[in-house]
Amino acid sequence: MALYEPVIGLEVHAQLKTRSKIFCGCSTRFGAPPNTQVCPVCLGLPGVLPVTNERAVRFAVMTGLAVGARINLRSVFARKNYFYPDLPKGYQISQYDRPLCEGGAVEIHVDDAHKRIGLVRIHLEEDAGKSLHPEGKEGVETTRVDLNRAGVPLIEIVSEPDLRSGAEAYHYLTKLKQILVYLDVCDGNMEEGSLRCDANVSVRRAGAKEFGTKTEIKNLNSFRYVEKAIQFEIARQVGVVESGGRITQETLLWDSARGVAETMRSKEEAHDYRYFPEPDLLPLDLEPAWIESVRAELPELPDALRERLVAAHGIPEYDAEVLTETRSLAAYYEEAVAASGQPKLASNWIMTEVNAVRNKTGQPIETFPIRADRLGAMIGMIASGAISGKIAKQLFERMLTDEAPPAELVRRHGLAPIESEAELVALAREVIAANPGPAAEFRAGKEKTFAFLVGQAMKQSRGRAHPEKLQAALRSALGGEG
Ligand SMILES: [Zn+2]
Repeated sequence: MALYEPVIGLEVHAQLKTRSKIFCGCSTRFGAPPNTQVCPVCLGLPGVLPVTNERAVRFAVMTGLAVGARINLRSVFARKNYFYPDLPKGYQISQYDRPLCEGGAVEIHVDDAHKRIGLVRIHLEEDAGKSLHPEGKEGVETTRVDLNRAGVPLIEIVSEPDLRSGAEAYHYLTKLKQILVYLDVCDGNMEEGSLRCDANVSVRRAGAKEFGTKTEIKNLNSFRYVEKAIQFEIARQVGVVESGGRITQETLLWDSARGVAETMRSKEEAHDYRYFPEPDLLPLDLEPAWIESVRAELPELPDALRERLVAAHGIPEYDAEVLTETRSLAAYYEEAVAASGQPKLASNWIMTEVNAVRNKTGQPIETFPIRADRLGAMIGMIASGAISGKIAKQLFERMLTDEAPPAELVRRHGLAPIESEAELVALAREVIAANPGPAAEFRAGKEKTFAFLVGQAMKQSRGRAHPEKLQAALRSALGGEG
């Protein structure tokens, strides 16, 4: 494999979070009954005129600014002509040779290295409808068309062919989604089709300057599928080249159930889109002052937030990366730090215990049952020695279902550490009585059995015994009775 270098570029379609469509006032709400959110404009009926949704333009410009792209003061909408059942007009309004944004980059972090993935362009376009294939009577296949999506605003984000592996593609998409969600311009919901991706893949001999022939894998709707489909396609192309064959330019579809990419159409069937400027829309002209006002309102983005957390709290970059997964997770962290004064301990608890529960329940941090100030209070108790780390885990479990303050839960459930000498001696005696064999072995000089007895005593106290004081009590009890 090292003899070959994969070259990958991605085209990402992101649905902009506007309430209405890009050229008409129809709703973009997901899940409405088929064809209930349509009008003459998005149905492409004759004699209607599209009107550009200003909010969609604003969102596209925000995205361009966030990735350092150049915003073109004049961009042009074009008709992309092709026939498809779910495209009623017979053309899609997109942007072609004069897109809204050009250049820019997305920084990714793979295996402790930072890498810049360049962008070619970001342009605005409308989505097409959706073909449904319900099984008809006696298993006969029918096709129905739902045009609720027709005219939904999209941005297409085209990367340079700077990616070199399926894993890099995965990281790039994760980062891109994170930026879009931070900007609040896209909900990032892949199940509902808010983010889709096409991957262009080719391989070339290591060191070669020229690109190999590329294939395109269409309509990937999960980041893991993108990664797997790319890995599959790289291996397939290397196999073809190795056995003396040639790669043919074609469009592939990923079959996630079988884990293979299959030919959808070959080059001979490639579309000629016959682009031309959309006659019903004026060029999109932007004022520099307006662009600057959009720039001024950009929120803090993931990279800046990550750097700020490292600088402000002295936590490792890895922690900051995990904690900035979403803006709200970072806010949760900062609140827990404010309540506990323990930046690293708070980070550890969120990365392990909190995220473990969230991964199991699929819960966003916004609705996590333990609010940040309560987690902070609990962490403060660990730091002050009021509870041990072990007990904290039991307390954490209780806090998931009980909203009482942590200190009250400690009292109510007897979770405070056992430090009283009398109690510890009693505990030691109990354990010795229950384990006469090991106690005798220890007294006969077998030091190793001591750890066993400590373990038994800890278990008996449900982890509450103060470790050093327990050991002292146990030694004196073992000696005293000898
Ligand atoms: Zn409409």
